[in-house]
Amino acid sequence: MKKYKRRELDLWVLPVDCRVNGRYCGKCCYNTEMPLTRSDIDRIKRLGFKENYFTVYRNGIPHLKNVNGHCVFLDPETGMCRIYKYRPLGCRLYPLVYSLDSRRVIVDSECPKSRSIDEKLIRRYIPLLRRLVMEVYKLKI
Ligand code: SF4
Ligand code: SF4
Repeated sequence: MKKYKRRELDLWVLPVDCRVNGRYCGKCCYNTEMPLTRSDIDRIKRLGFKENYFTVYRNGIPHLKNVNGHCVFLDPETGMCRIYKYRPLGCRLYPLVYSLDSRRVIVDSECPKSRSIDEKLIRRYIPLLRRLVMEVYKLKI
């Protein structure tokens, strides 16, 4: 992978067309278990949100907080993310995830567009997922 500056990497987004039946899907924003990197937290705090507004710690690892069964940043009326441009790295890479159970990179089949993620795309985005896993879980994959 070419060397990118940290800020450039933060802007990478796995290209997924999230429209389902003409509407933004938003499924992954319900009961989210998305972990947060330090840079995610700092970036969102710069938008004016207090850390405890959007962060909950589980086993010492910061995750996005759910309120009423969905991510605190989801607007359930519109189905849109209120911080879309600044959303966490894990949200940008989803449905590409690292399974802590199987210790493998997988495409989460819960996402209705998971089949649109091909091998070439996975290979391209694995370095970024590797960085996420290293930052969050201190694991080398
Ligand atoms: S579940 Fe998949 S298709 Fe739906 S919003 Fe998330 S990434 Fe997009
Ligand atoms: S930050 Fe945005 S994209 Fe990520 S789970 Fe919350 S609402 Fe969804």
